[in-house]
Amino acid sequence: MKSGGEYDIIVAGAGLAGTLAAAAAARKGKNVLLLDRNPEAEVGKKTVWGWTCGDAVAGSHIDFVQKKMGVQFGQPELDRRVDGVYALSPDLKTKFMFEGVGYTLDRPEFEAKLLEIAKKSGANYMSEFEVQSPIIENKKVVGIHGRDKNKEEFTFRSKVVVDALGISTVIRRNLPENPYVDRVIDTDDIESTGRYIYEFELKGEDLAYFDPDNALIHLNNVMAPGGYGWVFPKSGNRVNIGLGVQKKSLDIRNAKLGKKDNLQTLIDEYVKWNPLFKNLKLWNKNNNGKGSWSVAVRRNMESLVYDGYMGAGDSMVMPNPISAGGIGPALISGILAGENASRAIEANDTSVKGLWQYNIDYNQAYGKKMAGMEIFRIYLQSLNNDILNYGMKSFLTTKEASDITLGLIPELSVASKFKMVLKGARNLSAFSNLVYVVGRMKAMNEIYEHYPESPDTFVPFKQKVVHMVEEAKERFPSSPI
Ligand SMILES: Cc1cc2nc3c(=O)[nH]c(=O)nc-3n(C[C@H](O)[C@H](O)[C@H](O)COP(=O)(O)OP(=O)(O)OC[C@H]3O[C@@H](n4cnc5c(N)ncnc54)[C@H](O)[C@@H]3O)c2cc1C
Repeated sequence: MKSGGEYDIIVAGAGLAGTLAAAAAARKGKNVLLLDRNPEAEVGKKTVWGWTCGDAVAGSHIDFVQKKMGVQFGQPELDRRVDGVYALSPDLKTKFMFEGVGYTLDRPEFEAKLLEIAKKSGANYMSEFEVQSPIIENKKVVGIHGRDKNKEEFTFRSKVVVDALGISTVIRRNLPENPYVDRVIDTDDIESTGRYIYEFELKGEDLAYFDPDNALIHLNNVMAPGGYGWVFPKSGNRVNIGLGVQKKSLDIRNAKLGKKDNLQTLIDEYVKWNPLFKNLKLWNKNNNGKGSWSVAVRRNMESLVYDGYMGAGDSMVMPNPISAGGIGPALISGILAGENASRAIEANDTSVKGLWQYNIDYNQAYGKKMAGMEIFRIYLQSLNNDILNYGMKSFLTTKEASDITLGLIPELSVASKFKMVLKGARNLSAFSNLVYVVGRMKAMNEIYEHYPESPDTFVPFKQKVVHMVEEAKERFPSSPI
């Protein structure tokens, strides 16, 4: 095995999180090596399926990168501006707006731009390198091991390894047993998702099915059990259309309906269900027109650091538990990881303790509301279409629903509570479950407001969090039908 040398920081994975981590650290004068399995022309490609994603990102997350890195995005990478995201009830009678202004990205273009930023910032980039495992010495991560494009084996050593390998990371999964970063996650917290990018002609107008100015999310536990379908406009006459499911909910739904649907049949049914599209043609630029992959929809790892190790983006299961939006958290965490890795190296302490400030910074910037939102996701997955229809119409005001999707906890108004009491026992119990969930979200947010200042108090904190999530899973089993 060859030695590839020693760096301050190795960033494994040149996706959204990795390119920005490398850029941020290189700007602090660190000697950075950015490694990825793709050829340079396909930077950021997640799998053989391409850059599989819904491509929607909040404008505030793009602003964060622009401000922090002093860069400006435009076309072609910001493919289309949208006013916001609407979530529609299964009967399409109620819709809630959330997120606000955002963009649908041209992901291959966006990733190419991020790589350019990393390289201009001074990061060393090695393409077509397959990371195979971390190198562990005395229980500390001290580098990585893998193969280059000629299948030659290499080791690279560093003071810090940033794991930005996405959800299938081989680094996190091969860490030593430790109290900080879990090596495996619950499969019920993973959504199987897939989508097409199509060119189309419109047959008519109906904003419940296609809205040129907004991203649409269809909640429907028959069509997308334990997940949702989406129709996101792109530039020209193009659309990103797909859906995600929770495997357990899909199994329950299939058993109850006597069906044998899988992710692909559900996506194809969902496309057919939409009455507005005709002459659909796969838009296969970069071979990226059709694909499927997994998204974790739970709280991010309670700790994002271990001795010599930091994680950013999907490797740390960062996507928002309700919307599955992982672009924003990957961008934010990448920058914060790069900055904090540099700071720890300057302070000559890359132990868990020395890297801990990254946990605090990420929690403050984005992470602290995610665990509460995971509880809401678990509750949502326990509702059938009838209750979803009724609940979206009657339980929440638009403002309350939008607060929840932002991780803010609404005070469910006294008037709406009183109205519910007048509406009979079945609805009352569904409503009281919502009141319970909102209370638990509040309690979880409170726990995260006091995120541990150092690793010393981390274990009891994590126990509390895990206990509350398990309690919610027990109380609200998946029940799509
Ligand atoms: C179908 C679908 C729809 C989605 N829709 C949205 C959406 O609309 N909005 C949103 O915000 N989020 C969405 N997401 C989530 C979002 O795409 C991810 O959260 C985001 O890509 C995470 O970025 P990342 O940099 O952490 O990881 P990734 O994008 O997965 O990048 C990881 C990089 O590491 C490389 N890599 C992996 N393993 C190795 C290895 N062993 N050796 C070398 N290189 C390796 C990969 O090739 C890739 O370049 C969606 C996800 C899916 C699957």
